[in-house]
Amino acid sequence: MQLYNSLSHKKEEFVPHEAGKASIYTCGPTVYHYAHIGNLRTYIMEDILEKYLRFTGLDVKRVMNITDVGHLTSDGDTGDDKMLKGAKREHKTVMEIAQFYTDAFFSDCKKLNIKTPDVVVPATSYIDEFIRVIEVLIEKGFAYEAGGNIYFDTSKLDKYYVFNDFKEEDLAVGVREGVEEDSNKRNKADFVLWFTKSKFDSQELKWESPFGTGYPGWHIECSCISMKNIGEYLDIHCGGIDNAFPHHTNEIAQSEAYLGHEWCNYWFHVHHLNTNSGKMSKSKGEFLTVSLLEEKGYNPVVYRYFCLLSHYRKSLVFDWDNLNNAVVSYNKLIERIASLTSDKSGEVDSTEYNRLMKNFTDALDNDLNTSLAITALYDVLKSSANAVTKITLIKEFDNVLGLDLIENAVKVSESDNEEIPEEVMVLVEERKIARKEKNFALADEIRNKITALGYEVRETRQGVEIRKI
Ligand code: AMP
Ligand code: ZN
Repeated sequence: MQLYNSLSHKKEEFVPHEAGKASIYTCGPTVYHYAHIGNLRTYIMEDILEKYLRFTGLDVKRVMNITDVGHLTSDGDTGDDKMLKGAKREHKTVMEIAQFYTDAFFSDCKKLNIKTPDVVVPATSYIDEFIRVIEVLIEKGFAYEAGGNIYFDTSKLDKYYVFNDFKEEDLAVGVREGVEEDSNKRNKADFVLWFTKSKFDSQELKWESPFGTGYPGWHIECSCISMKNIGEYLDIHCGGIDNAFPHHTNEIAQSEAYLGHEWCNYWFHVHHLNTNSGKMSKSKGEFLTVSLLEEKGYNPVVYRYFCLLSHYRKSLVFDWDNLNNAVVSYNKLIERIASLTSDKSGEVDSTEYNRLMKNFTDALDNDLNTSLAITALYDVLKSSANAVTKITLIKEFDNVLGLDLIENAVKVSESDNEEIPEEVMVLVEERKIARKEKNFALADEIRNKITALGYEVRETRQGVEIRKI
């Protein structure tokens, strides 16, 4: 499989560190508010990546954190702790907020057919581990104390801006919300590993540590949770593109300083979902959620379909017209599949199966091209393969796509059948047999009887279609 690697800025063959296995780390949500559908675009595309790697036969282990402490309102080290902000907004404790929005996140994921990662770790449950790694970084000379906080010393690295896209001046972008100089930092790019002396007197969650009572920085969470659960070598690290800097840059700095060798080979970044007025963001306060889609009558799985129609490395503009187009296209797709579900005769045609399956795997092998994978699905429907071959392929594709294709098609065909009287269905079956036996005169006679009962029966490329006249 060819995968674009943000580290090398090119597509590369994916070769896992250990043959037959693949380890994935995903930056989890900051649980101070509902996930917006932009966040969920990232998790949908990561879910496709995970499922496709499993589909190719790899034994995948995927780990995700839950950020319930340490993520400040700026991605740098300024602003308030987002969790505290959420707690104040809702007059609840930080832990109550964390639990509520963690549950809400997984409930949204379920509706979007996003599999829960194999390991999920709330940052607050790993404080001892963060402290241990920070101690090692201090011992190795990569971290220093200043003004009560512990900082990572980026000047000790051969190369800090590993994604190449950023320069010193770009730091102002990293701390875009409320740029503030921290005079404790030896170098502009240094970042906090542990806050003790903070200006946030009301910080609710604090822990004892050898560096003083305080709390961890956001970046150290992901490094530690990944290394503890996956080990010294990580195959793929995922996240939204905004996380490349400073978050992932800092993760690499501290993980490699700690380990003394390279850490993660592939960096998979999903580009943003935007609205016509700009990036969708939780901090802006106004954002679209899965619940809102449901309230407006959309099936969340259609939003997943909408996301799959675009490549993950292109930013995607959300508007209601685009979503409505996706609804129409999804419903047509389901109807076409529905017309196949009742025909269970025949066997899988292996030549057609292999040809059509290759279209699908070629698409996803090419840097997870999901829109081409959807085209491969249409190729199946358009092909001359028998219904059993088609249904078998669609089921297998859907193990990766997660669009409830068969379930929804069965529902549609059941509801279609419900409206058609038993009398008509019996005639349709008799006509099928007559046609199979090439008794076309009888078949026509039966068709007339069906017409007399107020129904039309016709052969389509997808099978027999029955409708009320
Ligand atoms: P957060 O909950 O803010 O920590 O973000 C969770 C995930 O969503 C991260 O991987 C972010 O990079 C990603 N993300 C944030 N905003 C967007 C957006 N507008 N579109 C796609 N992904 C996003
Ligand atoms: Zn992270």
